Amino acid sequence: MVRSIYDFLEKSVLKFPEKLAFVDAFGSNFKSINYKEFNILSKKLASKIAKDLNDSYTQNSILILLPKSIDCLISFFGVSLSGNFYTLLDEKTPKERIEKVINILKPKLLITSKNLKFDFNLPTLYTEDFVNFDIDEALLEEVKERHIDTNLLYVFFTSGSTGVPKGVCISHKSVIDYTFWVCETFNLSEHEILANQAPFYFDNSILDIFSSVKVGATLHLLPNHLFAFPNKILSYLEEKKINMIFWVPSVLIYFANTNALKDFNLDLKKVLFCGEIMPNKQLNFWRKTLPNTEFFNLYGPTEITDVCSFHKVEREFKDEDILPIGKACKNTELLVFDENMNFISPKEVGIKGELYIRGTCLSLGYYNDSEKTKKAFIQNPLHNNYLDLLYKTGDIVAYNEFGELLCFGRKDNQIKYMGHRIELGEIESVINSHLEIKNTACIFKDEIICFYESKKELDLKTFLKDKLNAYMIPKRFIRLDSFKLNQNGKIDRIVLNEFI
Ligand code: AMP
Repeated sequence: MVRSIYDFLEKSVLKFPEKLAFVDAFGSNFKSINYKEFNILSKKLASKIAKDLNDSYTQNSILILLPKSIDCLISFFGVSLSGNFYTLLDEKTPKERIEKVINILKPKLLITSKNLKFDFNLPTLYTEDFVNFDIDEALLEEVKERHIDTNLLYVFFTSGSTGVPKGVCISHKSVIDYTFWVCETFNLSEHEILANQAPFYFDNSILDIFSSVKVGATLHLLPNHLFAFPNKILSYLEEKKINMIFWVPSVLIYFANTNALKDFNLDLKKVLFCGEIMPNKQLNFWRKTLPNTEFFNLYGPTEITDVCSFHKVEREFKDEDILPIGKACKNTELLVFDENMNFISPKEVGIKGELYIRGTCLSLGYYNDSEKTKKAFIQNPLHNNYLDLLYKTGDIVAYNEFGELLCFGRKDNQIKYMGHRIELGEIESVINSHLEIKNTACIFKDEIICFYESKKELDLKTFLKDKLNAYMIPKRFIRLDSFKLNQNGKIDRIVLNEFI
């Protein structure tokens, strides 16, 4: 029985002790580490934490302030083996945000590097000292015995609409379940060579890290700033024979727009993406350039452990079509309700409603915030016989004729204009299909305003005339040289308001 994500590491160490677990070709400390060395350092750190902290019968929160690195991964496994849970913020997080997180989390320990010179008046362990800690096998055994799978693994902070970050609590059980699903669905083995794009504080990285460790594969870490240079990234993928990636659509869009793909001989067998709408125009470009590669659209919010639905891209899609987010992952249920909480069945093709999720993937709520938890995690409205929680995603979806879900964007991006209900995501996907357009974001401020990224000014009103209802055509179009992206690599919609 798998009760801890550490069990995945333990098994891979036995099978592949000398195999490279992680490669950080661009980092400042380790360049690469095999499973055996990685396990030893994780156990050293876990022993030290368990010795220093485990005097209570509740788990302790541990804050990690580190850049994406092998040290960061040792910290994740070390903390979890010690019976505690982690929150990661990277080294670029503004001080004010770190303080807000500390205020909510009240961490018992900080893990960081001496070079970063953080001072938050917390008991601190430094990565530079990991190697000097002693392994205490007896203590680790005791901690492992006590561990249960509903214990927390991590708390990831997402932005909250009120300006206070929300700490999404995720248990071992959810990550174990998700990792089993990933490895089975994508048929992963020790032969996988993955290249990680997602920052480690973003839940897409969960797939990269834990699936890779479970099957004994190798994960290459790519620093976020390097993604501004597609040629550098692509030549690395070529050189290292990377055969699987799981990236955000913004990056795939950017790479398609720069047309760099054709200059490289890539070994990619599987391309997975998640996090935002993937426009078919750029996806078609990837599909045409890599005809032997499998493409998968994955969907899910942080609150359900990264992914709850997926779609294998097999049939043809027109550039302006919306790519389905597909069907539920195994052991997960997707439920759609209209605004009066009437259930919408898969037979009701085209009827829009909000998506709710049910399953082991569900977060255990927002850390230290029962009010927000109650609003987002609700009793299944189909019965009241026992506690059966659903996560309310805020995403507007509808079934297509294949029983697949289409996602039309956020409920909070849904607007009413002259009595009509409009999804801005729907407008964006049509505009994105224009050949000259690299990316689009629409916002609503008394009227629909469209920001678009292209080399020159375009006559989009004429382009849209026969594609959208008249009331859906934006009133203003603002051309940008490029969009500013937020920390997760998505379009930063907040800064767009500054242009108006
Ligand atoms: P996050 O919690 O940052 O992962 O953001 C989750 C939100 O991103 C979801 O609620 C959706 O609005 C959006 N999202 C994630 N994956 C997809 C996808 N494949 N297609 C469309 N929207 C997505």
